[in-house]
Amino acid sequence: MQPDPSNQKFNRSQLIRQSVVSLDQILYSLAQTPNGLRLMVQAAPHDFRLTLFDGQKTSFGKETLLSASLTAENAEALRTQLPWLKPQTLGLKTSAGMGDRLGLATPGHVRAIRKMDGKIAPIFTQQSIRENTRTGRTPQQVMDDAMWGLFQENWRDPFGADADHLKSTQDIDVCLKAGYTFFTIDPGEFVDNRVETADLKSLRNYAQDLPAELQIENTGLLNQTINAEHLTITFDEPTLLKAMVKYGKAVWHVHQMYQHLIGKAGARPVELEVSVDETDNPTSHAEHAYIAHELIRFGVEWVSLAPRFVGRFEKGVDYIGDLADFEKDVSGHAAIARTFGPYKISLHSGSDKFSIYKIAAQATQGLVHLKTAGTSYLEALRTLADLDPLFFQEIYKFCRDRYEEDKVSYHVSALLSRAPLPSEVRNWATLLDDFDAREILHVTFGSVLKEKSSDGNYQFFDRLMRMLKDNPDAYARNIEQHFLRHLTPFIEKENFQK
Ligand SMILES: [Zn+2]
Repeated sequence: MQPDPSNQKFNRSQLIRQSVVSLDQILYSLAQTPNGLRLMVQAAPHDFRLTLFDGQKTSFGKETLLSASLTAENAEALRTQLPWLKPQTLGLKTSAGMGDRLGLATPGHVRAIRKMDGKIAPIFTQQSIRENTRTGRTPQQVMDDAMWGLFQENWRDPFGADADHLKSTQDIDVCLKAGYTFFTIDPGEFVDNRVETADLKSLRNYAQDLPAELQIENTGLLNQTINAEHLTITFDEPTLLKAMVKYGKAVWHVHQMYQHLIGKAGARPVELEVSVDETDNPTSHAEHAYIAHELIRFGVEWVSLAPRFVGRFEKGVDYIGDLADFEKDVSGHAAIARTFGPYKISLHSGSDKFSIYKIAAQATQGLVHLKTAGTSYLEALRTLADLDPLFFQEIYKFCRDRYEEDKVSYHVSALLSRAPLPSEVRNWATLLDDFDAREILHVTFGSVLKEKSSDGNYQFFDRLMRMLKDNPDAYARNIEQHFLRHLTPFIEKENFQK
């Protein structure tokens, strides 16, 4: 079956060829029309499956062609017909999460992942509740946007969907409903930083506030020694108390969130990540071992854990810190993860940390998850810099004005005084390679996407989206190239030879 060129409402050249799915006498595809992407469904006139979609039907010959908008209802209907568009759990496979703040990056992500020969399991749907707030999208929209990108590229292999940095049971409920499979629980607000300066007497006092189940005599860890490969961890009283006070309430929160998750998920397969990366002080190996030991004691099952590593993981730029220190740190965390799990070590704020990928791949022996988000937005800006440098210049000026205010909730060290002045920039694409400019552009994304002019229209958002939608291949090419640099170090054979 091919769409009939005599059909006035459908022009064959609009069809996105790689999207065509032929299944049991029905054709599904995406078409690029002057009004944006449309879902096309072509079948015999009385095929009941046409009734599953909301759209306009046209008959020609012995066929009916339905043209439908990319609504949430049509996305759901398509998932019922093409089940590979539903996310799945990925287990312990080496994996990469590719967050997408604009909802247009998935085709580029798919093209990069396809070059990994199946060695990296992808998470194409990923957004935290905080990012949802900043981008004005819902977990369902994030899910659907990624799905249309997967459908466009004809992706049929398993992929995961990460409900990232969840803080409450309500967050879990919303994301479960939207079909997410990977739940990242962030108990960061329960991490107690007082321990870093507390003496033994204070630690004993603080420990009394922990729930009864977490009291020192119930841990079974006091004066125990744990051997995790090359590490020997001895839980003398100060070490154990420090771990308990720092992470005990966080462990308890994860336990409660997990109970809620598995209760609500029922028979649906879901997997858990534990993340304490967004906290002030590094997670020591003893503290990691304490967390793992206690979570196991409370029956929590998880596939990955994101410690707070040594050094700085600033957004959208390379690792800042001593590489030998990082290697020692991640090697210990990986040894603990293999001993208590195995589970994966998760690298959050993983965008653009090019100097540590190889170290992390080797240390974890592939039991690793890489999480990126903002870098796909920066590649959208790079695309803009190529296609419409004047518009990009406008955005950069705005971001400079916003930076001091917007940076407050991030750990970034960029200085306005160091970043190039707009008048100094000759080649706008190179601005995306400047440390300070990258961070400035990164942390202001929410303001850029939401800013409205005095007439009530978006100042940048509509124009940015239009430009990316009109140039899908330019954007996909930039994303693909950028992600090959992120992903390749995780599959290089020599990285796994000790
Ligand atoms: Zn994180």
